[in-house]
Amino acid sequence: MLPPLRAAALYKPSGDLSAQGDWRHSDSQIRYNREKMAVTPQSLPMPVASDRTFVDSIDPATNEVIARYPATSLDDLPAIIERARNAQKEWSARSLAHRCAALLRLRDAIYSRRDDVASVISRETGKPRVEAILSEVLLALDTTDFLARQAPAWLRPERVPHHNLALRAKSGWTEFHPHGVVAVISPWNYPFAIPVAQIVPALVAGNAVLLKPSELTPGTGALIGELIEQARFPIDLVQVLQGAGDLGAAIMDVGPDKVFFTGSMSSGRRIAESCGRKLIPSVLELGGKDAMIVLADANLETASSAAVWGGFTNCGQACLSVERIYVEQDVAEQFIQLCVEKTKKLRLGPASDRNAELGPMIRLRQLEKVEQQLREAVERGAEILTGGNRRSDLGPNFLEPTVVTRVNHSIQLMRDETFGPVIAIQAVASAEEAIALANDSPFGLSASVWTADSRHGAEIASRVRAGSVMVNDVASYYGACEAPHGGRGASGWGRTHSRLGLLEMVQVKYIDVDRLPRIAKSWWFGYTAELAVAAGSLVEMLFAPSWKKRFAALAKNHGARGLIFRRNLI
Ligand code: NAD
Repeated sequence: MLPPLRAAALYKPSGDLSAQGDWRHSDSQIRYNREKMAVTPQSLPMPVASDRTFVDSIDPATNEVIARYPATSLDDLPAIIERARNAQKEWSARSLAHRCAALLRLRDAIYSRRDDVASVISRETGKPRVEAILSEVLLALDTTDFLARQAPAWLRPERVPHHNLALRAKSGWTEFHPHGVVAVISPWNYPFAIPVAQIVPALVAGNAVLLKPSELTPGTGALIGELIEQARFPIDLVQVLQGAGDLGAAIMDVGPDKVFFTGSMSSGRRIAESCGRKLIPSVLELGGKDAMIVLADANLETASSAAVWGGFTNCGQACLSVERIYVEQDVAEQFIQLCVEKTKKLRLGPASDRNAELGPMIRLRQLEKVEQQLREAVERGAEILTGGNRRSDLGPNFLEPTVVTRVNHSIQLMRDETFGPVIAIQAVASAEEAIALANDSPFGLSASVWTADSRHGAEIASRVRAGSVMVNDVASYYGACEAPHGGRGASGWGRTHSRLGLLEMVQVKYIDVDRLPRIAKSWWFGYTAELAVAAGSLVEMLFAPSWKKRFAALAKNHGARGLIFRRNLI
């Protein structure tokens, strides 16, 4: 049973409309219209992802509409961004200590409502409660706490000592200024942890945020808005805009100052095109096709447990899912057997079943995409060792966790993102072949290497083309808020989490102060032939390949004296 939410925008199909008030009295764009709410979900064909008026929260275990949220009108966007700009001006004028204190209030608000948060996430995404707590609530709490403590040191101005001899009389430093209004466009699969880990650094750096949660998880998005309100951030500083991809595209049109997009490669490409047209800087966190390299000396018990967890956590719908496994030939049979045995033990069920380890897939169309990849793989010689079937007895979107072998890079299953509960295992002759295959992908998000020799593992990790590589673990680095997260190639660009992620939220400004303000600079106008010679001597004195030549330059033509004692300055 979904716990009662304070979000008044939440519409429970059996609920009493008149009992529900505005979600935030300040946000007219998400203020719901009581008349429109007279439409009952029962009168709509199910499931309904979103229409122009409402965004539906749907339980993927049953396809039932859990709640309806008023959609943000595209016409309201200019006023929304205007309000965000006004709120941002005041917010960025507040001290960093003030902003950090607000972050700590947010941390406490999340903690106080941790059960609600986990329940809403589980119900809306279908993920097991354990995962909602560990991968989402814990990560959001840790990030918020971490940045409240680290931001003062990381956003402090930094001195820039001068290297060039001619500029030593100057003092320089960098300052970190907010971008202004940052758009955070989020996916459905980690609907709480991902946006919170982007909103928090945006806010502490002095930005306002327009959050567009996925249309598949509007309830979690609304809950984030409530937590922001509970933490007493200024009105309009964070606005939650409910809608589908067309709303995301329209947000780009009103010109936010930076975009943090997390989602699929195809949507990312459209965002990048839009950013390119408007010259909006962006961070793109896109899909992955993460490789796992298992060497012959690896502990196969541990590696197989990791493969099964890494491949099937969140029902395989994680950007960091293990999708491709390259295992050395000598141990391949044993490793595959262990993976199959462990996969067969997994319990499927809805999030309401607290013992379930795998939930449903988010929607039927995603399930069908996975089935299509499996079909093509089998037609081209792959073998499904376990799984691959729908579990309609459990609900409309359940698919058995699946282990596939006899695969190669000619099939979609090894090339395209699968984003479902499938691990594909290919035996390889050597570590070299495994590295070559791991790198044979347009994606470059993350990877892992499994070996008893950590040093060898780290060497291989350095050679794998990915934003992160773990040795003897999978995906867990994402929970380390001090570690940078991001991809290369088709997995996107830029970084979130860590200091690098915080610095994505700021514009770097360099300030330079001359310590000899009354002295005209020797490189200013009043050029003469003598000055050109002196300039040449200076370069030789500094960079000639031997000390002998440098001293010779000093002696020749009075060295650089003509530069130091300028006579013809104008
Ligand atoms: P998606 O691309 O369908 O949607 C993501 C968000 O973008 C949603 O809010 C959606 O409404 C919005 N959107 C869609 N089209 C848009 C457009 N043209 N302009 C602006 N916004 C638009 O992705 P999804 O199905 O929600 O998420 C799954 C994908 O996200 C997978 O590919 C997964 O690998 C990836 N992902 C990546 C990371 C990462 O950190 N790299 C993390 C989580 C998920």
